[in-house]
Amino acid sequence: MNTCSFYIVERNTVLSSPRGICIDPIPEAIASYDLDEITLATLCSHTSLQIFHGAREEGFKTLGLAVGQIPKYYDAYPRAKPDDFLVVGSHLDVLKHAGELRDQNVILIPHGSLVEYLGADNFLDLSVPTFGNRRVLQWESDRTKSRRWLEGAGVHMPKEIRDPRDIQSPVIVKYHGAKGGRGFFIAKDYADFVKGIEPSAQYTIQEFVLGTRFYFHYFYSPIAKTGYRLRKGALEMLGIDRRLEANVDEIYRAGGAAVEPTFVVTGNVPVVLREKLLEEVFDMGRRVVEKSIDLFGGMIGPFCLETMVTDTLQFKVFEVSARLVAGTNLYPTGSPYADYVYDTMSCGRRIALEIRNALRSNQLTDVLS
Ligand code: AMP
Repeated sequence: MNTCSFYIVERNTVLSSPRGICIDPIPEAIASYDLDEITLATLCSHTSLQIFHGAREEGFKTLGLAVGQIPKYYDAYPRAKPDDFLVVGSHLDVLKHAGELRDQNVILIPHGSLVEYLGADNFLDLSVPTFGNRRVLQWESDRTKSRRWLEGAGVHMPKEIRDPRDIQSPVIVKYHGAKGGRGFFIAKDYADFVKGIEPSAQYTIQEFVLGTRFYFHYFYSPIAKTGYRLRKGALEMLGIDRRLEANVDEIYRAGGAAVEPTFVVTGNVPVVLREKLLEEVFDMGRRVVEKSIDLFGGMIGPFCLETMVTDTLQFKVFEVSARLVAGTNLYPTGSPYADYVYDTMSCGRRIALEIRNALRSNQLTDVLS
């Protein structure tokens, strides 16, 4: 095996690949690309319909990475069906096709499922130019680091309780790495905690915040020169959703019977926010992006802050997702917010537009890693 063990995630910065697998520096890979023949590829799942649809709208060829077989549902949605498919035996097999993908001038568009199924280390090792800054993964997936990032940015988070014996009011116990709220539980005191905890698991205890949940779909462009300007580039907020979670959202229907609330994500609904709160929404987004620039060169493209607004109109951010979140699927042709910026714009299409703009201004390596 080749022993070189670095790749470039941003200009002048190298990041060790966790397994030391040699990855071509991305600018070098891009230098060998035919820029008139760029293909945008993603895994056939999660938010792929809006990614393919948006890429086509921006004039790119599209490639679907399908595991096992080509999903038949694309036949039902021809405007969001990729031009071509690469069928692989397993998610990990994507790694073996990196050379082939580069030969096809592929830029990979990550979404939540791609990163989850590939695994964070494999995603970092994948030597295919990828939209966004992959370095964000290390900050986003580790609850201690993400708290350092968010609190360092000056946004409010739910209080953390380090010692379960200090639980004096309702808390939510979150397992590390748990997806979609699975296994989370509420405890009102130490006895509740002991009763509910899975002893071998790693967990975080947070103050249980009561309020209204809003999940903001931001897009940060490091190359934009107009709009809501940041220290570098500009920030957009293209939509808001709220997740539907079983059974906590409908627990009132049990008529007060003693049912343990669970937080398993089952879907999403569109929401809008009181307009006067938008000022704070943009300020939170700005702080989180600018802190990310200081910490790891900045996240790029779509990200989501998962927030609670309390009855004193205070925002508490309980999670950051640094890629396209599934709630954006609500808005394939624009949201009540995207409509004030563009004629027809999904977050998937916004990624393709960013790549198109970067190509035009010769800044492609500024939005890839
Ligand atoms: P997360 O995995 O952090 O996105 O949390 C999953 C779900 O748990 C959220 O969508 C909320 O419904 C709920 N949740 C998370 N953190 C809190 C909190 N501190 N207070 C109240 N509910 C929370």
